[in-house]
Amino acid sequence: MRNLWNGADAAGFPGDLGQRVYSSRLLGRDPSLVLHGGGNTSVKTVEANIFGESERILRVKGSGWDLASIEERGFAPCRLAHLTRLATLDSLSDLRMATELRACMTDPSAPMASVEAILHAALPARFVDHTHADALISVTNTADGLKRVQEIYGDRVIIIPYVMPGFKLARLFAELFPKGCTPRTEGVVLMNHGLISFGSTAEESYARMIDLATLAEEHLARSKAWVLGAGPAPAPPGPIRAELASFRRSLSREMGCPAVLTVHSDPACLGFARRPDLDRLSQQAPATPDHVIRTKRVPMMGRDLEGYRAAYEKYFNTWADRADPRPTMLDPAPRVVLDKDWGMLAVGRTAQEASIVHDLYRHTIDIILRAELLGGWRGLSPEHIFDCEYWDLEQAKLRRPGSPPVFQGEVALVTGAASGIGRACVDALLARGAAVVGLDLNPAVAEMLDRPDYLGIACDLTEEGQVSAALEQAARAFGGLDILILNAGIFPGGRKISELGTDLWRKVMAVNLDASFVMLRECHALLKEAPRGGRVAVIGSKNVPAPGPGAAAYSASKAGVNQLMRVAALEWGSDRIRINSLHPNMVFDTALWTPEILESRARHYGLSVEAYKTNNLLKVEITSRDVAELAAELCGPLFAKTTGAQVPVDGGNERVL
Ligand code: ZN
Repeated sequence: MRNLWNGADAAGFPGDLGQRVYSSRLLGRDPSLVLHGGGNTSVKTVEANIFGESERILRVKGSGWDLASIEERGFAPCRLAHLTRLATLDSLSDLRMATELRACMTDPSAPMASVEAILHAALPARFVDHTHADALISVTNTADGLKRVQEIYGDRVIIIPYVMPGFKLARLFAELFPKGCTPRTEGVVLMNHGLISFGSTAEESYARMIDLATLAEEHLARSKAWVLGAGPAPAPPGPIRAELASFRRSLSREMGCPAVLTVHSDPACLGFARRPDLDRLSQQAPATPDHVIRTKRVPMMGRDLEGYRAAYEKYFNTWADRADPRPTMLDPAPRVVLDKDWGMLAVGRTAQEASIVHDLYRHTIDIILRAELLGGWRGLSPEHIFDCEYWDLEQAKLRRPGSPPVFQGEVALVTGAASGIGRACVDALLARGAAVVGLDLNPAVAEMLDRPDYLGIACDLTEEGQVSAALEQAARAFGGLDILILNAGIFPGGRKISELGTDLWRKVMAVNLDASFVMLRECHALLKEAPRGGRVAVIGSKNVPAPGPGAAAYSASKAGVNQLMRVAALEWGSDRIRINSLHPNMVFDTALWTPEILESRARHYGLSVEAYKTNNLLKVEITSRDVAELAAELCGPLFAKTTGAQVPVDGGNERVL
């Protein structure tokens, strides 16, 4: 592991807190040390209070911040004396501890201090770093892990046996650390949990962390337990989308909400899922308490959800009876599924969660395989897992008020997503919590947004093979499809029927009508597996009820799609799929309408641009956003009992009325 400290860069971060930010980010850059908000760091400072008195303050990583991108305001300021005193209490519930942490902060608007704050306070050094280094976990989670840790580090570290993070760990730490500390101590090994280093400067503490983690890596390398063989070549990506969507529906039922499900069929994931000893390796606990909380108990093997639920309930009842008070059972759905055909499936209530679950378990696989090479993987005991999974701090989160975004956990697909109304639909759906797949002929759709809940695919909708491949890719990214927005369409320049060439007519039909038909047909199998029922919104046109001269191909194609929508409503009602059209008119903020065209059209009607844009009964301008918001609402609960309907969004039009 490389020491990334750079003196010139570090000089750009003045003061103790600045140095704290700089080296925290260095740690955060290495996912084998900390992943997704895991790990925490602190610095002890002296600050003046409102009375001008000096107070010793612990600035410790606040929750919700990631070390990789932390800023000074991401560190919660806590009165040090209060924290060190808390560590002397005989017992303290973790909920009360959370209250005390909040109460001893000098800035109530700062983020909540890490649950490991008391531990940081109990360590006298100015800078303290804590990581969940993968290499160390591979070493500690083996049968002779303790012996190996002693052999690797000698008297450079103090070893703390495994206890649950939170007050119990802080308490044990505060008791053992002063007893064991010598001038040679550079850090602490928390068994089955992670590493702590400390120093009088940020650089010293950071360098020690890198040294300690490197020693674990070198031990693995010496023991021929570092390099992992490549897994089998991935299976050819056969179509799995219908089966996957059906599995997602069952899984969502277990979770009590729609689930996002991501399939990972790379060699490492497939190789692990196909191991003959998978049962023994995967059915022990995850590697660290942090992973338990975020990936839940153990992965599910294969797709037997009922078997998994039965095992989960048995496990829950075994341990819940011993707890006081008895915790509330979390949903029994797995967050990781290992399947020999599909590889690894990561499950979350959102795409963000599924992506975190993937990253954590992807690291877990390497940790397990290295521990296995070292002499045999040993996870946490079932009792320890239960304590973490049903930690009262986690239980408190369950009781948190507030409802999730309306489309949370749902998957939406938008055609013609790169610009105009399609792009606005992408935004409207993301804002409502959906994971969104955007299709467009324009390859820019792929790079349009960089976030885990968006997938852009360049696709020619008139090519059935490309459509099928795109749907397969979409299903593997998010697990299925709940919402379809049929938006893609072309509008050729005005031409009278007597002058309209057959080629142009066919081109318009191919994009506006034929491609919509294929998309509907191909999506049906996915939409009927939508946990809350499938929804389709068709972006029609005012031209459907009120065609205009010179737009024969466009009007006919849009009327055709509209009729297709009505037939689909008839055929798919029993599949719980509802489908509705909306008919926009005069939407000028799209790529079609340049200022020049707008001006020339306005002049044609003898109107100012402003009057032309609002030439409707309500005298309002219709924007892409207006259309997109209506499309999203048509797929929402307000229209839960409406199908086959057509809603205008045109400011009121006499010909339509
Ligand atoms: Zn930790």
